[in-house]
Amino acid sequence: MCDIIWCKDCDTVNYLDPYYFWNWEGKIKCAGCENVYYIYMIQGHMYKGPDKKPGEKPDILPVYADKPNNGYEEILPGTSGKTRPYNCLPREIYLGKADMVKFSIRGRPVRGWRPQPPSTGVAGSCGFTWDIQKLSPEVWEEYQEKIKKGEVSEW
Ligand SMILES: [Zn+2]
Repeated sequence: MCDIIWCKDCDTVNYLDPYYFWNWEGKIKCAGCENVYYIYMIQGHMYKGPDKKPGEKPDILPVYADKPNNGYEEILPGTSGKTRPYNCLPREIYLGKADMVKFSIRGRPVRGWRPQPPSTGVAGSCGFTWDIQKLSPEVWEEYQEKIKKGEVSEW
């Protein structure tokens, strides 16, 4: 369930995420225009408002808003005056391809990187018999360096 503020001036529906606004009092700026609305929600019910408060400073922007009468609109990340998109904003390092790690946070070698050498089998079929020293000598060397530098830990 989600309450909304349907701005009649710019025909924008501002969605009030219930988990944030469940018990909330404050001012929200319309995502489509400069209107500011005062609301007071108690246990998910609109107790007061939405009342237009022209010219007042908003406490927050809605996380998600759209104009259902106009169809879908895509707002690109980084558009000024907009909060980040409702769908999680991909971080720069996640754009394109996955970030491959060869070592766990404790500095121990992991199998979750690619390309795996063909000698390790197809689709991890020899996951329990991965002889890192023989099959991935460069990772083994890197691992020995990490041990020397003290970057490998138990916990
Ligand atoms: Zn508006």
